[in-house]
Amino acid sequence: MAHLAGEVDDRFRRAFYTYLAQQVIPLLDAQVEKIDGRLFSHYDRPQFADLVEVRHRYYYEISFSSPAGFEDACGELDYDPSTASWAPSPAKPPSVITLTQKRQFDAQLESCPNETIVAPYECPKCHSNKVAGIIYDHGVPEDANAPKTEFDSERRGGAWSCKSPHWRCLSCKHEWGGDYWIRTGFWDGEKELRLEGIVRASRYSAHGAGFLGAAVECRDGRVWVCDYDEQSPFHALDGRQVEAFGKPFQPRPGVSCLIDWEGARTLGHFHVSAMRLLDMTCDSELVEVGAQQHLYGRFERRLGDAGKSTLSFVTEDGNSFDVANDPAGATIGPSLKVCGYPVLPSPSVRTSSRQHLWIICPHSTEDLWEWRKRYS
Ligand SMILES: [Zn+2]
Repeated sequence: MAHLAGEVDDRFRRAFYTYLAQQVIPLLDAQVEKIDGRLFSHYDRPQFADLVEVRHRYYYEISFSSPAGFEDACGELDYDPSTASWAPSPAKPPSVITLTQKRQFDAQLESCPNETIVAPYECPKCHSNKVAGIIYDHGVPEDANAPKTEFDSERRGGAWSCKSPHWRCLSCKHEWGGDYWIRTGFWDGEKELRLEGIVRASRYSAHGAGFLGAAVECRDGRVWVCDYDEQSPFHALDGRQVEAFGKPFQPRPGVSCLIDWEGARTLGHFHVSAMRLLDMTCDSELVEVGAQQHLYGRFERRLGDAGKSTLSFVTEDGNSFDVANDPAGATIGPSLKVCGYPVLPSPSVRTSSRQHLWIICPHSTEDLWEWRKRYS
């Protein structure tokens, strides 16, 4: 049953207004004159009734106006009816876009065209051509190929961050590079962004390979590549309206990546911490996808709640998950390192009430072809 109508009462409203007054309004620039917006739940439908995790989960989109303009706030909250209190959902925390931020974004985006990434020929300061790439001991996952120039790369301890430089001049020691989205002011380098758009994921076809990953097309004309793997969980959301939370990143030079998307104003790359379906239909497969993680463990077969045999993954520390997909090359038994995404399957496809993982495991080319045949 729809829970929203049953749960919203004066106590609920007052608790939400208090939340706004204490947690949101102090973050704004202007003296607010008018507040306009909505609080709703993506899960206020019979299809979600069985999902305990999201029973009291709400989303707000609110616009605060003043003579100087609009400021926006949005976020996801879990309501606790016993205490009439609100807590931010961890994966999709509330955020605010102030007037100052809006002005900065607009000015910087207009003045900065999209860049393609090329290895630099010279130092922008002293014009020496002795430019070395910088390799970090703890790079990002897509950092398998570090920057390469004709000079030796410099290895550096510690973790790469989006603000870390890519290049070092061996003559004057100048370092530069780093994230386009920070340089243009689109992103502060810290907070998660929220995107809303339609997932475009491609499957292998005999007519041409091309891009087989998944991206989100947003209404502002930006397209964000979220995954390059053709088995990604985002493929299960192809063509759907979603919201995605996460952080932009700049692929390292030397890593093969998309640099153009037909019709897009800008193409970016995005580490998804959570993606969620905005409009659920009866054929929806996944409701939510969480952040990618690396896991050690093994596949097992177990009997699901309905008595059907299901694939599960048992991690080294003994946690057991139902596998939501049918990964290429999955074999029962041996210990291996996999890439896993926590997912919330829709009630029509979930095999049990346990936590589900979407897994991509090591596989051969033959495994992949066999998998493609199964899903074409
Ligand atoms: Zn230099």
